[in-house]
Amino acid sequence: MTQEWEAGRLDSDLDGVADDTLAVRAGQRRTPEAEHGEPLFMTSSYVYRSAAEAAARFAGETPGNVYSRYTNPTVRTFEERIAVLEQAEQAVATASGMAAILATVMTLCSAGDHVLVSRSVFGATVSLFDKYFKRFGLEVDYVPLADIAGWDAAIKPNTKLLFVESPSNPLAEIVDIRALADVAHAHGTLLVVDNCFCTPILQKPLTLGADIVIHSATKYIDGQGRCLGGVVAGRREQMKDIVGFLRTAGPTLSPFNAWVFLKGLETLRLRMQAHCQSAQALAEWLEAQPGVAKVYYAGLESHPQHALARQQQTGFGAVVSFEVAGGREAAWRFIDATRLISITANLGDSKTTITHPATTTHGRLSPEERAKAGISDSLIRVAVGLEEVEDLKTDLARGLARL
Ligand SMILES: *Cc1c(COP(=O)(O)O)cnc(C)c1O
Repeated sequence: MTQEWEAGRLDSDLDGVADDTLAVRAGQRRTPEAEHGEPLFMTSSYVYRSAAEAAARFAGETPGNVYSRYTNPTVRTFEERIAVLEQAEQAVATASGMAAILATVMTLCSAGDHVLVSRSVFGATVSLFDKYFKRFGLEVDYVPLADIAGWDAAIKPNTKLLFVESPSNPLAEIVDIRALADVAHAHGTLLVVDNCFCTPILQKPLTLGADIVIHSATKYIDGQGRCLGGVVAGRREQMKDIVGFLRTAGPTLSPFNAWVFLKGLETLRLRMQAHCQSAQALAEWLEAQPGVAKVYYAGLESHPQHALARQQQTGFGAVVSFEVAGGREAAWRFIDATRLISITANLGDSKTTITHPATTTHGRLSPEERAKAGISDSLIRVAVGLEEVEDLKTDLARGLARL
């Protein structure tokens, strides 16, 4: 027996293999070089043997590449790998997570349409809807994430889509994705899930009934804080329109960034497992500390949606938030006392980060909006990285000593 493959063919037979194998192998094609690694096609355009071949390619009569705003082999490999991991018919890569949200809404919605957004979504997502989409005639309303009846009641005849992040940032609220998808479909609308915090390793929203999944690949998919990128995954007919928007408007993914993300995907499952283990250990440890008033982490029995998280996720993620006694001053003293952990709002990195949401990620909200979102001045968010967890405890203990 020999391995049967030729240039342009998929690398391996991937029928029935596990996520670990897909994350390493899916989407790779053999080139005539027969390279072992992931080829990086750092090219803006492509060449043809003849004018007739160019004409046929441009007319879409023969398959192949035309221009990297349209397609690029490295980007395509990344898209195919995400699609199989999310169990989507197709995935489309974008220049950033925000570009993924932009492309999705620009494609699916028109002036006069209504969208419902979870109250606890990424800050720039709120700005995109409120400052920009509203200017083009989109109606936007916000709903508490976990309130299924609230979503149902807020849907109007012109509601085009529901947009959620689950678990939420920074309080780790969870929505029952299957129940929300049922509500969306009963009204003929679509459910879009930003799956950035879980990655397809911990949660596959499409298998729970969601219609479209969005990622900021900048976070765990890269995993080492190097590149910006995003991806949208879903049914072929919807992705076709999103591809059309991206080809025309241009926020497509750089081949270099796609190549970095492919390398990131190869270790994603191992990294997510380590992130989750350390986050669980830190959350349990924090909950036992006298200076800590409350810990928000879905892996804790004390989390009101622990059972739901266990049911729809295969892990609880790596963002742990907690409240300290003593308000903003105490929270800042705690953060400033750390020596190892990076003081920054980023997450999804091998380096653990610590942030004060009320004055950074949620600083632009009014005090009333923050109160509504449950972001108090004494809240601290830690995005747990891959350092030894005992060293992270030692560093957080420096903060506890200053309360
Ligand atoms: C970071 C982030 C985004 C935006 O992604 P970028 O790659 O920074 O554009 C969207 N959603 C969530 C949940 C994020 O954490």
